[in-house]
Amino acid sequence: MNPYDFDLFVIGGGSGGVRAARMAAQRGVRVALAEAHGQAGLGGTCVNAGCIPKKLYGYAAHYATAQRESQGYGWEAAPARLNWATLKANRARELARLNGVYADLLRASGVALLEGWARLLDPHTVSLATLNADGSPGQRRFSAARILVATGAAPHLPHFKGREHALHSSDLFEIEPFPQRLLVVGGGYIACEFASIFHGLGAQVTQLYRGEQILRGFDDELRHFLAAELLKQGLDLRLQAGVLGLERHADGLHVALEDGNHLVVDAALYATGRRPNVQGLGLEELGVALGAQGEIVVDAQFQSSVPSVYALGDVTGPMQLTPVALAQAMRLVDRLYGSGHARPALDLDLVPTAVFTHPSLATVGLSEEQARQRYPRVRVYRSEFRALRHTLSASSERTLIKLIVNDADDRVLGLHMVGAEAGEIVQGFAVALQAGATKAQFDATLGIHPTVAEEFVTLR
Ligand code: FAD
Ligand code: NDP
Repeated sequence: MNPYDFDLFVIGGGSGGVRAARMAAQRGVRVALAEAHGQAGLGGTCVNAGCIPKKLYGYAAHYATAQRESQGYGWEAAPARLNWATLKANRARELARLNGVYADLLRASGVALLEGWARLLDPHTVSLATLNADGSPGQRRFSAARILVATGAAPHLPHFKGREHALHSSDLFEIEPFPQRLLVVGGGYIACEFASIFHGLGAQVTQLYRGEQILRGFDDELRHFLAAELLKQGLDLRLQAGVLGLERHADGLHVALEDGNHLVVDAALYATGRRPNVQGLGLEELGVALGAQGEIVVDAQFQSSVPSVYALGDVTGPMQLTPVALAQAMRLVDRLYGSGHARPALDLDLVPTAVFTHPSLATVGLSEEQARQRYPRVRVYRSEFRALRHTLSASSERTLIKLIVNDADDRVLGLHMVGAEAGEIVQGFAVALQAGATKAQFDATLGIHPTVAEEFVTLR
């Protein structure tokens, strides 16, 4: 007889937790999933405060640009004006629909959906803080053979004077009124995307980054190229810059800058990284090993230092991307509950990714700098051009594409792009890199003309 209430208890209804719960339940495993925010939290950060609402606001910003550019194509119309309330309401409606889809999928797979804040009591017991029927706080206990922690990550802010005035990315989706003057601090994914999107929506944006160039870790040439494109559009991007303090005044938020200057803004977004959600889970009491940033340390099989406790997704490490959490979940379920055809281990060198700025940046494989460190001889192919669309649009936007090739065996090590729809284009080429494509095979591939993507197969 099975001594546990469940075979698998999943904590967290985000990208990783939902995928693991569904896949396991579809294989006949008895699964429970606890999500702190109930149905409204299903889908986790990606659905509720990340990828999806961010991309929707990005589309909103694109329409303003498209309308301006359409004049070169003969369209005559009054300048567009954003109805912020409509955008917010439509976003909220779509997210609620997605929450419902997730709930339906989980229930249809046979997952027991639980609402409440979960905490580990011992290696096989979870306590769930819930509400009783009369609204008073209650506790329920569940036992499970295995527990999967997929609790994600949360914004991490440095300490500075006036920190209480700083907002997180989640706050920006709902902010009221629309911030006409926005300060963005950081130079990573969120800072760059939000600065670009809110600039596109009509805000006057100042972005401060502490280092010498935004998007540390990406190909250097792309970082510089993207920064130049953003500046050209009028985004006030300041490098080697930072904030001393924020003070609220009647006319707005006064920002004292490290260089002695001042700004007055309506809102200040801090996008200075996200740290694993491990607080209050009872992990340390249980002896679950945590890393320097608080991440749960797991082995290649997602097992923590306590054998019945597993973890994946943002709570485990630095590659905080939805497809990574999904891929990890599928590998974990395959390993624990068998599928007959085990998936290959994740190759973290080949994780494709995009930064959804305008223009966007996307990449798969090694940057030129990484490739030069690892291989003695590297060939670099690049092309910089004005896309056909902009010959009539009057936009000065330029596109950069780049291939990094290992000279010894002709294998393409990295593929990079700054330009419209870079993510859509690089996704397809990621398959080629995964398959080990050579430059000769790129050359043998015919283009689709006229497209931007064809440039990748005509580089000489
Ligand atoms: P999450 O999705 O964060 O889910 C964790 C869940 O656990 C949450 O729902 C939380 O409520 C719940 N939880 C936490 N603690 C408890 C507890 N004790 N008990 C019960 N429930 C709990 N990635 C991309 O690939 N592409 C993008 O375009 C992209 N854009 C992003 C934009 C923003 C603004 C942000 C913040 C992130 C973005 N990401 C993007 C990253 C992506 O959202 C995450 O990598 C992904 O959501 C991680 O999934 P996860 O399952 O690890 O955690
Ligand atoms: P990132 O780690 O990408 O960037 C953090 C930024 O904040 C860096 O520029 C960093 O600078 C800077 N920073 C860190 N500490 C400080 C400080 N004390 N003072 C000033 N600046 C500081 O984190 P984000 O918050 O942007 O995003 C979190 C993660 O979410 C991303 O890494 C990504 O994995 C995921 N995400 C993915 C997206 C996508 O796929 N399109 C979109 C949004 C998020 P430095 O470089 O010098 O350390």
